[in-house]
Amino acid sequence: MASGKLIVLTGPSGVGKGTLVKVLLTRHPELYLSISATTRSPREAEVDGKDYYFLSQAAFETMIEENQLLEWAEYAGNYYGTPRAKVKEKIDQGMIVLLEIEVVGAKAIKNSFPDALRIFILPPSIVELESRLRGRQTDSEEAIKSRLDRAKEELELSQEFDQCIVNDELEMALGQLEKAIFSD
Ligand code: 5GP
Repeated sequence: MASGKLIVLTGPSGVGKGTLVKVLLTRHPELYLSISATTRSPREAEVDGKDYYFLSQAAFETMIEENQLLEWAEYAGNYYGTPRAKVKEKIDQGMIVLLEIEVVGAKAIKNSFPDALRIFILPPSIVELESRLRGRQTDSEEAIKSRLDRAKEELELSQEFDQCIVNDELEMALGQLEKAIFSD
């Protein structure tokens, strides 16, 4: 069987990466979404092993030391990282694997996985991004401020990625993503 491929979706928190991924997986069940490890506490309704592997800081640091992560980054005071083994297994099986990760880790993928296609999702504007972050009502004011500060730094790196897609109108962004993922 032909080897699969790795698609990395990145962009600031609140840009709508999660929604895009959810629709993509519904429309294309053959895609495999990697489950990340994190030291962040679970939000209400999040399930360990499904949304994330929720780990202690010590357990996460062991994964780093044992080189079990394809990439990792610190984000808003917590660690986030992609477990390497499952991604490799699925790609070896010929599957298309999706990562939905923040920008520092997405940049780092270029070193550990040079063939990955790295796509940056842009908000229509910073004002719209702030309104989306507030609208989802999952984070404290302090967390929203920290995510917005980070977003401004992240947006400056967008040009370093293979492709940029503006998530203004959902269907249009999805169409562009599908084209990028399924064309060779
Ligand atoms: P949240 O706390 O909202 O679930 O995620 C915060 C940020 O961490 C989001 O931008 C999300 O894409 C990113 N993230 C999730 N998993 C990973 C990962 O495995 N690695 C990296 N570098 N970022 C991740």
